[in-house]
Amino acid sequence: MDGQKIAELLFPKVKLTAEELLKKYPPRKLNEGQVVSRFAPSPTGYMHIGNFFQMFIAYNLTRVTDGIMFLRIEDTDSKREIKEAKDVIYGTLKNYGIKFDEYQTLYGKDIGEYGPYVQSQRREIYHVFAKKLVAEGRAFPCFCKKTEGKEDVLKLRENKFQADDEKEYDPCRDLSYEEVKAHIDNGESFAIRLKTKNKGTERIKFHDLIKGEIDAKANAKDFIILKTDGVPPYPFAHAVDDTLMGTTIVVRGEEYISSTPMHLELFDALGFKPTTYCHNPLICKIGENGNKRKISKRYDPEADMRFYSYEGYPKEAVLEYLLNIINSGFEKWRTQNPDADWKEFSFGVKDITAVSPVFDLVKLNDISKNLISRMPADKVYNLWLNWAEEFDKELAGWLKENKAYATAFLNIDRESPKPRKDIYKWSMIKTENFPYMFSAPNRDELDDLDKSKYEEFMGEYSKIFTFPQSNEEWFAGVKKVAEKLGYAIDNKAYKLNPDAYKGNTAKACEFVRLAITGKKNSPNLFEIMKVLGEEETLKRLKNA
Ligand code: GLU
Repeated sequence: MDGQKIAELLFPKVKLTAEELLKKYPPRKLNEGQVVSRFAPSPTGYMHIGNFFQMFIAYNLTRVTDGIMFLRIEDTDSKREIKEAKDVIYGTLKNYGIKFDEYQTLYGKDIGEYGPYVQSQRREIYHVFAKKLVAEGRAFPCFCKKTEGKEDVLKLRENKFQADDEKEYDPCRDLSYEEVKAHIDNGESFAIRLKTKNKGTERIKFHDLIKGEIDAKANAKDFIILKTDGVPPYPFAHAVDDTLMGTTIVVRGEEYISSTPMHLELFDALGFKPTTYCHNPLICKIGENGNKRKISKRYDPEADMRFYSYEGYPKEAVLEYLLNIINSGFEKWRTQNPDADWKEFSFGVKDITAVSPVFDLVKLNDISKNLISRMPADKVYNLWLNWAEEFDKELAGWLKENKAYATAFLNIDRESPKPRKDIYKWSMIKTENFPYMFSAPNRDELDDLDKSKYEEFMGEYSKIFTFPQSNEEWFAGVKKVAEKLGYAIDNKAYKLNPDAYKGNTAKACEFVRLAITGKKNSPNLFEIMKVLGEEETLKRLKNA
């Protein structure tokens, strides 16, 4: 009964009871199979691809079950919070077209019945439940100085307790009402700790939707549920919020598995039904030692969601890449449904990968190439322009002034049954795909060139060149000069006796291609000439 008295002493202002509070958050009325999940980012000012990945799993589970997805901002760690951090979260989600059913707007309005959707505004709720636990003797105030600092606690434990590997009981767990009152009267601040029921020998089993049955050591630590500033650390806020807000599946990174026994003891102490966990594997990279390591903010630019924006990957490519690593069945589905929206792809919890995927930029590029190849030229133009508006103002200006020209060259070898697949990000179009549509190639930079043959050929060719009216016509022109200069027109003959010729027609075509584009490989050259126009084409041939 000390518990009840201590609870009143610690929380005199908390009048609401847990029962009353629970009435305000009635269980959600859900249809069979409907999933309620959430994305619960901490505002760190940075969106890690791992967080986005986790969000996207939860988002898809709710999407395919016609369920409810909510956004909860976990801003309890005020030291870490930075000012624009919320904008980064909202901005990234908006950028990728991810919509939530329930959230708090940037202007502080809660959309949904289970708010507030920002943890710092749920302080009272946590206090109600902390008070209840203290009243029931399941939690206690801890007056140790700097009680949050692990080192201090360890030191205290050494001083007051015999070293005990099995359990971590806090020195303050059995203070009497009088002792607590003396501390309070003395004006001392306190944290609240859970009074664990366990002795350190117990085990706990829980089911994870991805990992299956997990057997772990039960929690045996009196851990903090409210810090001295009255703010709950992650475990307590998680247990209270995911219960009150009616989450049916908690999707979170597998780094939380090890602390799940703590969370489960809290659910039990609070009298809550334990939640269902889905611990997703973490996206990895192969480290220098050949081992998998978590993709990291520190070493990997692609860990930051901003990377995909400034590189200019289409949003759907990034989403599709993630779907592809969430569920390997996506690729097959995509091949069978090349034009379908990714949102038509459906999968269940059992289809989610259980192994840590290794991040593969080549695969992302591939997905992106396919996606862009299926876009009509004006869409490519618009998305490229959008990207340029943000990351390359000068290019954006140029694109606006040269819309017809840009759309025309983007349309070369596009909108056909076998479109060319070589663009995978907007930032590469000007520098890698079509630099020659911006300026004539620099002769000194043509690689791997047999200069004397090139000059001889181009000298002849530019003399006879008339602007062709068809693909066949320009090819016929090349052939004519090639033949005259001793190139093989018949490739079979060339293969049988290559030394008898200066080269074959392919070589001759390559010279013309180099003269016009600076590249040995390009989209249809006749189409390029058409877009460049007669004057520019002729100029380039002559310069060659
Ligand atoms: N705020 C936590 C994080 O960002 C949320 C974890 C969870 O989803 O429960 O890691």
